[in-house]
This record gives sequence, C-alpha cells and structure tokens, in this order.
Amino acid sequence: MGIGGRRWNGWGLGGERFPVAATARAWLSERVGDGTPLPMIDEADVTVPPARPLPDLPCALARDRSARLRCACGLSLPDLVALRAGAIAAFPDAVAFPTSPAEVAALVHAADASGVALIPRGGGTSVVGGVTVRPLAKPTVVLSLERLHGLLALDCISRLATFAAGTLGPELEVALAPHSLRLGHEPQSFEFSTLGGWIATRSAGQRSTGVGKIDDLVAGLEIATPAGVWRLPPQPASAAGPEPRRLLLGGEGRLGVITEATVRVRPVPELEDGVGVVLPGWEAGVAVCRSLVQDGVPVEVMRLSDPNETAFGTALTRLSSWQRRALRLLGMLTRSEHGCLLLLGWAGGAQEVVLARARAAALWRSHRGVSLGSSPYRHWRRDRFRHPYLRDELLGAGWGVDTVETATPWVKVSDVRVAVSDALRAAGAAAGFAVAVLCHLSHAYRDGASLYFTFLWPLRSGAELTHWQLLKAAATHALLARGGTLSHHHGVGTMHASYLEREIGATGVTAVRALVAALDPHGTLNPGVLLSGDGA
Ligand SMILES: Cc1cc2nc3c(=O)[nH]c(=O)nc-3n(C[C@H](O)[C@H](O)[C@H](O)COP(=O)(O)OP(=O)(O)OC[C@H]3O[C@@H](n4cnc5c(N)ncnc54)[C@H](O)[C@@H]3O)c2cc1C
Repeated sequence: MGIGGRRWNGWGLGGERFPVAATARAWLSERVGDGTPLPMIDEADVTVPPARPLPDLPCALARDRSARLRCACGLSLPDLVALRAGAIAAFPDAVAFPTSPAEVAALVHAADASGVALIPRGGGTSVVGGVTVRPLAKPTVVLSLERLHGLLALDCISRLATFAAGTLGPELEVALAPHSLRLGHEPQSFEFSTLGGWIATRSAGQRSTGVGKIDDLVAGLEIATPAGVWRLPPQPASAAGPEPRRLLLGGEGRLGVITEATVRVRPVPELEDGVGVVLPGWEAGVAVCRSLVQDGVPVEVMRLSDPNETAFGTALTRLSSWQRRALRLLGMLTRSEHGCLLLLGWAGGAQEVVLARARAAALWRSHRGVSLGSSPYRHWRRDRFRHPYLRDELLGAGWGVDTVETATPWVKVSDVRVAVSDALRAAGAAAGFAVAVLCHLSHAYRDGASLYFTFLWPLRSGAELTHWQLLKAAATHALLARGGTLSHHHGVGTMHASYLEREIGATGVTAVRALVAALDPHGTLNPGVLLSGDGA
C-alpha cells in the first residue's frame, strides 16, 4: 500500500481483491494446464540505486526511495513481472509534483534548458510502457500531475467543463454530478486514470459506442511544451487550417504536458438499464452489433464476447439457475459450443430507453438471440472496475495474462479475430505451451469496431517475459497483417513504437518526428515513447 492506498506492484487498492473462482481455475487448467505462480517480493526488499545529481528545478521534488519506486513503472505485463521480482530496469532520479500550469511550464522550460528528461505521469495505468522509466543517459524526472486536479470552469449553456489534467475519473464525475451533468468516459481503469492520460493516449471508455472516444469529447486544451505554452480554446468546429487539437491527441507526453482540458459534457440520464442476450454464434452477434449502429439504434454500451470469453465469463460469475438453464440450452457451457453473450446498455429518458431496447430486441430476435434479462448487464456494471484485480490473482496462481486490442472495418472484423487468435495459439504451440484466447467486440462505429483479446498461458519460471514477447509479437503482426489498427485505445508507448511505421507509413513517421522536433527540439519529454530509436 502507498500513495492513496494504491498497490506499489499491481492494480488498485491494497485491500481489494477479485479472487479467481474455482470454476474459472478449472476452466483454465483444463485448457492450458497449470503454471508456476509468479512470486512477489516485499517492497522493502527492492534495491533502489542512489539518485543521480540534478540541477535546480523550479518545483517540489520527491527524491525518497518510495516515490522513486512507485513512479518507475506503469502496469504493462513486463512492468508487473519486473515489479513482482524487484528487477526494475531504471528508476527516476526524482518525482516532481507541480501544483499549477505555470509551475509545469517553468519546470518544462528548466528541464529542457538543463538537459533533464521529463516523463509526464497521470494515473500511471499505461499498459504499453508509456510511463515506464528507461535507462537514459540524462537525469530523469517523473512529472506527476497528481496535484493538478479538479473542476476549473463550467459552462452549463454550452455544456463544456474545464478540468485540470490530473483529475481522476471518479473526481471528475463527482464534480459534475451536482449540475446533473456527466462526461460518461469510463475506461476500465477509470478509478485510477486521469483526464490528461486519457487525452494523451486517445483512450476509449466502456460507454464509447454511445458517448464516443475521448477524441470526440475534448473541445479544447492547454499544453506546456519546451517551445512554449500552447492554448487551444474550445471550439465546436473549425476550418482554420489543420485541426491542432486533434494533432495533440495521442501525444503520449512526447508533444508536451497537458495541464488542463475542456470536455463536452451531457445531462445525467433519467434511466440506465441494459440486457444480456445470447446469440447462437459470433457471426450472428457481429451482425446484430453492426445493424444496431448502422441502423442508428441508440446504444450506449455494446460488448459482444466470443464463445471462449463467454465461457470464461460464465465460469467467473455466479448466474441464477434459470440463466444457467438458458445458457445450457444454447450449449454454451461446453467447449464445443458457440454461444456468445452480448451486453447492451442504454442511458437516457425512460421512453427513449424503452424504444431503443424494443428496436434492438427486434434485431437480436431476427438473429435467434435469446434475452437473459437485465441481470447479466447489472452484474457486469457492478463488477467491471473490479475485474482488473483478476490479473494480479492470475499471475499469483501461475497464469500469464495480457491483452491486445485493435479496430478494423466491419468487413474484416471476423477475419482479424480468427487471425489473431490463431497466431497466439500457434506461437504458444511452437514454444511448447497452450494459450487460451478470449475476445470481445466493443466500441462500435458505423464503419467498424474494436476487438479486444485477452490471452492466458501457463507461466514457466524464468521464461515469463520471453513467452510473453513471443505471444505479443505474434498477435501484433497478425492484426497488422489483416488490416487492424496497431491500437484502438491503449496507445503506442514504447511497446508499439517500432510498429508505428507499419500503420502510418514512412511519411507519417517523418511528419510526427517533425512535430515532435518543433515542440520539443532537445528530446526532453518522454524520449523513446511513440517514436522508436528516439532518445532511449
Ligand atoms: C486494468 C486496466 C484497464 C484499462 N482499461 C482501459 C480502457 O478501458 N480504455 C482505455 O482507453 N485504456 C485502458 N487502460 C489503459 C490506460 O488506463 C489508459 O491508457 C489511460 O488513458 C491512461 O491514463 P493515465 O492517467 O493512467 O496515464 P498514464 O499511464 O500516467 O500515462 C499514459 C501516457 O500518457 C502520458 N500522459 C499522462 N498524463 C499526461 C499529461 N497530462 N500530459 C501529457 N502526457 C500525459 C504519459 O507520459 C504516458 O505516455 C487500462 C489499463 C489498465 C491497467
């Protein structure tokens, strides 16, 4: 436990857990076998080398062991393996806690002038190495946005709210609630990630089918760069040349430090409800999802699990006896069957919700879908922010677990799912172990959707990282080869930097490099992130 009660080497709060149900353990054992639990050393036993000397910087700095350890890593699988083993590649020489945009700007300027690298850090929940400290020749300071938080301005007429960049998800929604407003951006990391982090990574929340990605929600922002402070006030739309707000989204701390942002907010809905529907197969589920968005049926949450994810989810959850009967009827509790669970959620006026649900029901029935009622949706809503605790439990029980995510046009959705799943299983088989691959479709658009893969494998002592690397590379190559995007919402970080050119081309990389060079000519901000071979 530490700052705010958060774990130093895993997800969330020290007292919280989400144990792996015996049925889920059995499901995994049967499919991939048992592995070697990943041990976890005590925080006190981690060797933290002395910090290097730093020039005078105009900001409060923490240089103690605990602050440096807690800001050394993010939450990717390699981060977790390193933290649990106490084998951390590099530590920051200090952690800076600026308390105002002016202090951020002064710090960025001073660091740039004195050859210090800065790693902007929001909630530290990056799963792609975005905040992992690299061994750099320059002294390195983590710039924590922790003390820049809260609602700064609210324009109820335009429905625009300005927040400091370090505001965490719950604080943001709590500040809007008295005005009967909400943002509705709820990534699974909601409790511990920040507005600045969401913008810097182009994050997507679980309601994105209805409310959009953070890209759609940001109306204006302010960013401190070595080249100066760049303020882009909110505009509903503009034709004043290329759109610089969009250009700064996904900067991952490489283009500057976001100090505040104005977001588009909406009224708190009168009613929220949802349903779980079982479809007789993946293709039927995809057809329902596509028709819903293309026919303009309002849906806020849409999440279609493939048969493996449906079966694993069922093994994790306690279902009522009639739900079990319904699932068994569809044959989905056995491995050979193909039932897929679709969760749909609505938020709005009572009448709107009833109408949207009726339109959706007509669609799922036309694809032989069977409703399980509201309770699967309510269960999912209740537990969704607890699911991340499972990852630590699984590692401690001997199973590696990681995710890759992408998006692709509808015409390629099924092909990408098969290609990535096959590539993961084949990579495991070639190295002598089995891999379970779960997939869901979420974040649907008129022209396509995101696919999110979770892969699990038995850990072998000493080979945790090499096996993970094999799997991660196989999945990434497969999704790129089949026309998926490198990332729909986790971002590039250091982990995907070498693949960026495959997605945006050599000209695209040249343009991004030029933008970085214009804003940060000395490579002060987050070197090594976004662009490979860049500083680290
Ligand atoms: C369990 C779990 C579940 C997750 N679920 C989701 C999900 O549902 N959807 C999703 O999109 N992502 C998800 N993520 C990934 C992660 O939470 C997101 O990328 C999130 O947007 C990161 O926010 P953060 O505040 O933690 O940023 P950090 O991890 O601190 O930083 C991420 C990147 O942004 C940069 N950065 C952070 N703040 C600023 C700033 N103010 N100015 C400039 N650069 C900055 C950092 O330098 C880094 O490159 C999940 C991660 C975990 C561990």
